[in-house]
Amino acid sequence: MKYEQLIDLCKRRGFFYPTAELYGGLAGFYDYGPIGVEILNNIKKEWWKSLVHDNTNIEGINGSIITNSKVWDASGHVSEFSDYLVKCCKGHEFKADQVIEEIAKKKTEGLGVKELQKIVDKIMCPKCKSKFGKISKFNLMFSTGLGPENKETVYLRPETAQLIYINFKNVLNTTRQRVPFGIAQIGKAFRNEISPRNALFRMREFLQMEMQYFVDPKEASKTLDRWKKERLNWYINLGINKAHLRLREHKNKELAHYAKKAIDVEYKFEFGWKEIEGIHNRGTYDLSQHEKLSKKDLKYFDEEKNKKYIPAIIETSAGLDRAFLVFLADAYAEEKVKGEKRVVLRIHPKLAAYKVAVFPLVRKDGLDKKAKKIFDTLNNNFNTLYDERGSIGRRYRRQDEIGTPYCITIDYDTKKDNTVTVRDRDSMKQKRVKIDEILDYISKNL
Ligand code: ATP
Repeated sequence: MKYEQLIDLCKRRGFFYPTAELYGGLAGFYDYGPIGVEILNNIKKEWWKSLVHDNTNIEGINGSIITNSKVWDASGHVSEFSDYLVKCCKGHEFKADQVIEEIAKKKTEGLGVKELQKIVDKIMCPKCKSKFGKISKFNLMFSTGLGPENKETVYLRPETAQLIYINFKNVLNTTRQRVPFGIAQIGKAFRNEISPRNALFRMREFLQMEMQYFVDPKEASKTLDRWKKERLNWYINLGINKAHLRLREHKNKELAHYAKKAIDVEYKFEFGWKEIEGIHNRGTYDLSQHEKLSKKDLKYFDEEKNKKYIPAIIETSAGLDRAFLVFLADAYAEEKVKGEKRVVLRIHPKLAAYKVAVFPLVRKDGLDKKAKKIFDTLNNNFNTLYDERGSIGRRYRRQDEIGTPYCITIDYDTKKDNTVTVRDRDSMKQKRVKIDEILDYISKNL
């Protein structure tokens, strides 16, 4: 299975590791390694650029992970943010919809607890074949205690969005923005998922990239259409095959309590079409709720239209770890080259951990000195890797696996004519390029 091989590559080459493997790990938590963190940072950078830097009316913030619990009362998370849990007679626990979809092969979107229970009563536990009991509700927020003796219960934020809503007026009053405008944020979110799975796909601690766009409620539906297109194109422009992406609109029964309309960006994983981003018309729900509970005026006075209103919110909420997985899954390829298997990660150059790798053919005769000089020049401009050990063929293969777009080899001819070999990851074609022109050549091709 290609996905399993990808996960194997990720562990082998330092993309990510289960956390605390030394102690047997901890389900749903991962640590990114040296290659992974570079790719992760590049995805963040591209997302931030496409929203905050490329749109003069979108500002960035960085909210705190623990905030006043009243925020989660107002948002509905304390009362509503739960999954249906089902236990078998021997105590094996499952997310009810997941076990139904897997065992009964039935779609669960929009089904209520009674309908779910009817199906659960007819299936057996996949682990021990015993019967299931009654479905119960399980809140997904992690709580902890604040201050001496942990007197006050607080929560690790289950989404980044609320930190944006509570800062709506702060940003409005401290910038030159006027509605319509957006606020963007990248940060950690925490959910006590019943069954974390598929590596980075369902984690208990994960990263979200969210942008909340505040508009006149009359413009909400038009704005949703705009962001739906823009967000889909973001993935396509960064190299994801169009055929592996689709937009799926939620049926009325499926809609969350706050949503007027919801569209998922889905990716075709080996384990099925799955959500990687949600694009929602949240109407005026969020600001109205915060206005009600905080008793502070969150209305906006629109000077041009000469009216006061609570802005509606269009949100684009992407999982960074899921995006990471998608960029890798779509880039991963295995091919036969001269009878041997080649694993290559055809990741977009903007996302690749290293843009170029520099190799001296041998570590002597001045080739290493020349190579280090070239490395310094390139590394001043983009993340470059230097490797002087092992055969050139093996060095190429290592770079193919982590998706480095170009490799440069300094050999004995370099000493004669000041040229180097540039090898292209995707075509494997090699070209001699003058040392003086190498920076230009790589910059242009990236
Ligand atoms: P799902 O139905 O898969 O649980 P969701 O609808 O609860 O997702 P949202 O609350 O809309 O997800 O969160 C926005 C995005 O955050 C999702 O599209 C996904 O990319 C990411 N995300 C949500 N939960 C997780 C998780 N447990 N692990 C990793 N990413 C997640």
